[in-house]
Amino acid sequence: MASQEEIEKRREQLRKIKDEVVALKESPLYAERIKNNVLPVIGEGNHFCKIMFVGEAPGATEAKTGRPFVGSAGKFLNELLQGIGIKREDVYITNIVKDRPPENRDPLPSEIEIYGPFLDRQIDIIQPKVIATLGRFSMNYIMQKFDLDFDIEPISRAHGKSYEAKASYGPVTIIPQYHPAAALYNGSLRETLQKDFEVLKKFA
Ligand code: URA
Repeated sequence: MASQEEIEKRREQLRKIKDEVVALKESPLYAERIKNNVLPVIGEGNHFCKIMFVGEAPGATEAKTGRPFVGSAGKFLNELLQGIGIKREDVYITNIVKDRPPENRDPLPSEIEIYGPFLDRQIDIIQPKVIATLGRFSMNYIMQKFDLDFDIEPISRAHGKSYEAKASYGPVTIIPQYHPAAALYNGSLRETLQKDFEVLKKFA
């Protein structure tokens, strides 16, 4: 069990990240956020989780509510978690890019560069044992971050596999997953994701 002091410390460190992202005027997505009167999405869940999920960027529902994965992809993510008996509140869910790209377009390399350091800090604070990436952008970012560049395969081969890496705080297992939204367009990926999520069960 974490001490009250440790709980407070992490909460404070994560709050600082939120404050910085809220004021991130140098991001081109900041102007979009203000224009559309929406919110950045920092992340939510257990600050002492074993498993952290990293998606791409908020969609419309996320930017409206300030919460990750609460739209249709989020509904499927909830189902996937339920399917393996993991409670959503026991994991931490975030994205690389914290503001919504216009029209849900793919995040640009420059955007990943601006927001990536916030994700790096979230990982160092929360210290997950497992990072499950959702989609190819977060897979590529996390694999590169943990010097697994040589192991990077297309997501069609990497999905559901475990990659061992070393984080600043100790060992971490990277498990790439398809993005849940992909299953909304390609029905056969539903079962693949359900099967790949089984790998996560033993870490819960
Ligand atoms: N897609 C993502 O990658 N992240 C979200 O938070 C929602 C949809």
